Amino acid sequence: MTIKQNKNLKKSFRADCVQCGYCCQKRPCAFGEWDAEKNQCKFLTDDMKCSIYDWILKQPGNEINPAFGAGCCSALFNEQREKKIRELNV
Ligand code: SF4
Ligand code: SF4
Repeated sequence: MTIKQNKNLKKSFRADCVQCGYCCQKRPCAFGEWDAEKNQCKFLTDDMKCSIYDWILKQPGNEINPAFGAGCCSALFNEQREKKIRELNV
């Protein structure tokens, strides 16, 4: 990959959700539940996916929260997200 292509890839990730899990480890969405032991939503999988994603899509109110497909809600100063982007660029 050339430097120019690599820069374009980074730019395309600037506001997209890259499934770093950060926001689900800060507070649960309207359909989530907090796991105090793990300090994250109990539905967050070990590989940072939402384990009830398909179920949420069938629930009323999912258009408002969580913001699936709407981009990243915590893109600034998010080292967890930056790390995931670096991994995806390899
Ligand atoms: S912090 Fe952003 S990139 Fe990470 S899971 Fe949440 S919305 Fe996606
Ligand atoms: S239910 Fe899914 S999207 Fe909502 S906080 Fe939990 S893991 Fe994240």
